[in-house]
Amino acid sequence: MSAQPQIELVGIDKHYGAFHALKDINLTIPKGQFVALVGPSGCGKSTLLRSLAGLETISGGTMKIAGEVMNGVPPRKRDVAMVFQSYALYPHMTVEQNLTYSLRLKHVPREEAKRAAEEVAKTIGLQNLMHRYPRELSGGQRQRVAMGRAIIRSPKAFLFDEPLSNLDAALRVHMRKEIRALHDRLGATSVYVTHDQIEAMTMADHVVVMRDGVIEQQGSPLSLYDTPASRFVAGFIGSPAMNFVPGSVDADGTSVTLDLPGAKRLALSGRRDPGRKVVVGLRPEHLEVVDIAEAHLVLPVTVVESTGSLTYVTTGGTPELTVVITGRSTVQAGSDIGLAIAPERLHVFDAETEKAI
Ligand code: ATP
Repeated sequence: MSAQPQIELVGIDKHYGAFHALKDINLTIPKGQFVALVGPSGCGKSTLLRSLAGLETISGGTMKIAGEVMNGVPPRKRDVAMVFQSYALYPHMTVEQNLTYSLRLKHVPREEAKRAAEEVAKTIGLQNLMHRYPRELSGGQRQRVAMGRAIIRSPKAFLFDEPLSNLDAALRVHMRKEIRALHDRLGATSVYVTHDQIEAMTMADHVVVMRDGVIEQQGSPLSLYDTPASRFVAGFIGSPAMNFVPGSVDADGTSVTLDLPGAKRLALSGRRDPGRKVVVGLRPEHLEVVDIAEAHLVLPVTVVESTGSLTYVTTGGTPELTVVITGRSTVQAGSDIGLAIAPERLHVFDAETEKAI
């Protein structure tokens, strides 16, 4: 039998007046897991995180942390630590004072608090910065102090609200590895809100994709990439985003014809209802460039962009397709490109429900 989950959400609902912000959210998080909540702006991910912290009152459902029901328990009694993008450091306090603040509130003796701060500073590499003020720190260092303040309380869970949004791209990449390594070292349980699917995919064990207040799909990062349950998840996970082309299943049910000029039949890996209207998902990295004679699709090239390691090709017509080629390519704007795709790489969604079929 598996151990008791560290966080358990059953049937969580949240209304802001007439607005239904969270709808029947069910989520179980085992101890030690790193969970990312992702979704577009306004999908409810911050509301869910804030509800866990006790900063929002839920309208229905049951919320448990370490087996205890938290409905109605005030934030300071939940034993969880929030880490925000704004860091929320006290500007008039040194790093050490910022670190020990929560312990002093709990009347932990001064010497003991100092020792705890030194221990945490060692864990996250702040030893030499203990006497600095927040204004004397870089963005990454401030983020680390914010983490340190959370760690020193040994909380039952870490709740991150877009903690890296204020950092530049290179530092974000660095900090995401640092946060994940720290999570592992501490054996922590973490819930991490982000709108950045790359951050979610690279950091989390379990990704929860939200949309309009509901959980659209949840699973391991690669299961969401491999088998998205809906067009929405398919378009959200993966970069550059999946191409979507309307089409219809052929009379024998074993192939599909895309609504693109000159498109040949694309074999399907399983049978579908003949004649069904569908939307076919083609990941840019799964489209293969082949001889025009052997191609499933022949399309004009409008844009070629290369980063050195990858080449991005955009095709003309409606819809435009993006193709990613590893390394360099001789493809040129103005010429035609031949594309093929393996049957097992196709994602097929019902045109109306947009669910995977
Ligand atoms: P973002 O990435 O933009 O922060 P989010 O997914 O975190 O988005 P939430 O902040 O959870 O979104 O908001 C979810 C929905 O609830 C939004 O439509 C928002 O307008 C609404 N909402 C949030 N707080 C309130 C409030 N206090 N009163 C009314 N509506 C609210």
